[in-house]
Amino acid sequence: MYVSKVRIKNYQERKMTSSESLSSNDYLNKYLEPKKEELPNSDIPFFRDNFEWAYSGTDEVMSHNDGELSLSFDCQHLEDDFVEQLKQLMIAKQSREPKNAEKYARFFTPPMFILRDLQIAKSGGDNQMFGLKDYLATPGTIEDSGVLVFVNPADIDVDTDVINELLGKKVIFLSGNPSNLSTLLTLFHELGHEQTRDKNSEEMVGYHRGRPISKDEGRAVLEEERDAWAFALQTLRPYIRKESYEEVNKFIHDYALTNHSNHLRGQISPEWIAKFTKWIDDKVRKYEKEKRP
Ligand SMILES: [Zn+2]
Repeated sequence: MYVSKVRIKNYQERKMTSSESLSSNDYLNKYLEPKKEELPNSDIPFFRDNFEWAYSGTDEVMSHNDGELSLSFDCQHLEDDFVEQLKQLMIAKQSREPKNAEKYARFFTPPMFILRDLQIAKSGGDNQMFGLKDYLATPGTIEDSGVLVFVNPADIDVDTDVINELLGKKVIFLSGNPSNLSTLLTLFHELGHEQTRDKNSEEMVGYHRGRPISKDEGRAVLEEERDAWAFALQTLRPYIRKESYEEVNKFIHDYALTNHSNHLRGQISPEWIAKFTKWIDDKVRKYEKEKRP
């Protein structure tokens, strides 16, 4: 069975029918992760034989089978000049936020590729298979509504948790070795965000711009993060080895959600401060938009 859009659509339906009836205050008290300064290491091998890919920097299908699971990435290589252009484009877009600009400058470093397809299959039994082809955008086409996934296989500390627009498409910036389970989890987490982003976009703006936000905005951010992780887990569960469950749990809670919880605690402010700074920030954003060539 080839699963792609079907499963993602089900997720959307499930999402819309399950909203928690807690107040924002109670929701945050219940679900913010405890404060931790040290975040754990995020490397979790995907294959039983601990196989790791080395990207050769050409168009290729990287695939491996450990006897139980097979995984393949169809990579479209990006020329160095094109990577440089993308880097300059992202830096220009972030001219008001030098910290973000720095992150993108680090991310857009060759060798890089665009993900054309990803397939995961399990041998034996029901032979479950999962593919992403229908869901991914192809560079250069205007019509398709898919997501463009840029991959830098080096382990770069970049905030992948933003869905931006680039070249007229929704994009995901993914860093890390694709044969690492945490890289796969991150990819599916981002795809989970893509499902809910339209609905919550206003709440996410304040958070990602680092300004003071209200408890309601903070709740919306945390809810979306948790939903996106639920989506990643739900989709990848059949392909996660039992021995890795604990590591996966740590990665999601002690690493990713703790990181967000620490930021949220710092940004959640009294209602009037959140409203006032939002009012100013909206004016700044409007001004920036008008000035943009
Ligand atoms: Zn996220």
